[in-house]
Amino acid sequence: MSSRTLSNHDAAATITIIASHLSSREQARLDYVSRFLDNHPLKPENLSLDIRNVKQAEGVQIGYGKGHSNAANFDFFVPQQEVFFQADAPIAGLQIYSYKHVTENYYSVQRKTQINQELLIKNVFQFDLFETIFFHISRFEEHYPGERRTDRWDMLCAEEHLLVHHKLHQIPVVDQLVEVFFRVLGYPPNALSRQLIWTHDVDALRLFPNGLKTLRGFIRRILRREFSAFYRMFTRWLGQVINYSVDPYDTFEQLLDAAEDSPKCMFLMSGGALPLEGYYDIDSREALNLIHLAASRGYTIGLHPSYLTWKREDLMRKEKDRLSELTDTAIRTSRQHYLHFAFPDTLTVLEACGITHDFSLGYQDRIGFRCGTAYTYALYSFPDERESMVVETPLIIMDKALRDEAKRTRVSMTTLLNNFLDRQQTGQLCINVHNSSFDDIDWNSSEMRSILEQLHSWKESIC
Ligand SMILES: [Zn+2]
Repeated sequence: MSSRTLSNHDAAATITIIASHLSSREQARLDYVSRFLDNHPLKPENLSLDIRNVKQAEGVQIGYGKGHSNAANFDFFVPQQEVFFQADAPIAGLQIYSYKHVTENYYSVQRKTQINQELLIKNVFQFDLFETIFFHISRFEEHYPGERRTDRWDMLCAEEHLLVHHKLHQIPVVDQLVEVFFRVLGYPPNALSRQLIWTHDVDALRLFPNGLKTLRGFIRRILRREFSAFYRMFTRWLGQVINYSVDPYDTFEQLLDAAEDSPKCMFLMSGGALPLEGYYDIDSREALNLIHLAASRGYTIGLHPSYLTWKREDLMRKEKDRLSELTDTAIRTSRQHYLHFAFPDTLTVLEACGITHDFSLGYQDRIGFRCGTAYTYALYSFPDERESMVVETPLIIMDKALRDEAKRTRVSMTTLLNNFLDRQQTGQLCINVHNSSFDDIDWNSSEMRSILEQLHSWKESIC
């Protein structure tokens, strides 16, 4: 089919998905996917998407149902898989299959065996791309993990994620499906310019906040037998005592300049007193100065909810209210500390506390697309079978995750990032750079500065 050109004269262009005999759950989940497609940045402008149960007189008609027998009645047909739109329990035996269209590969999530390897035969898509999209963006496998392994934070192990298992997590498989869906229908997707979304989680304000914590830091290094890190830390501490040099974590002046005119958000903690949390006092002069600095550089202030908030509405509310009071703004944005997110509990907690924008869904220990998409979208509430009031900006590149992956694979951080950025056609990447990642104790500050340069040059280069 030749490409249609959209213009103001063609303002009424519509795509209608014709689906009948769906249960209320199937209908709710298909509606959710349809709204996802309708709001996706790659969707051509002036095009709208709709679901009906009878054929319409105008626009492209996509049949959605069992079998292919009535495919000829529609412009296109998507066969219903009847798995993820129906299930409310773990599904075993899931596979990812690759389908070809022109020169590109596209990926399904299926329980059945693959029959054809072409994405489209005549007018029939060869797998249920609506369910595949639902699987990824709803985080179905994290809602229903079954017996699969969890990590030390009680979340599904990254290796157990289907995309990681199939080594496809560095490809935005959902965005690829959206792109080819519109292209096949004859509507070339929107051309997007590249954008970085800069975020900083402030886990600790200072490496040497006071004598007691400094002493504990030194003892911890010795107990872990990290003698060279101990030496570097001691040198930095001595420098601070003798020369009054700045604290190794006080990197905000330079860091907050890096984002330039990109969207940017700083996440601050106003709670969290577990040993694994570098608790700081959000009422302290340093914290208040930082809030002013971030606001003056155009940053949105968000909450970095402490570790235990993931299932605790009372705690989340307390931390949110405290930060709202201090910043004199209604805090609506957050990212969980340690990306500690339980499905569906954390989503329920966020909604109840009036957080409307979450940034937590990225990998702890590798870079890539945990939700299959790079773009901001609404999450799904399984308990209520509806689109959630919380939108998600998936985290794609986190400094600590990049460092962990580099250590594990014995490839340098800059090489890993280069290989990743080189193949990205996406228009948006959300990154997380900590203020504590330039300390020259556990981190190499010049390597980190070249990472920031790499990100800038990706943004400036043409797709
Ligand atoms: Zn954190």
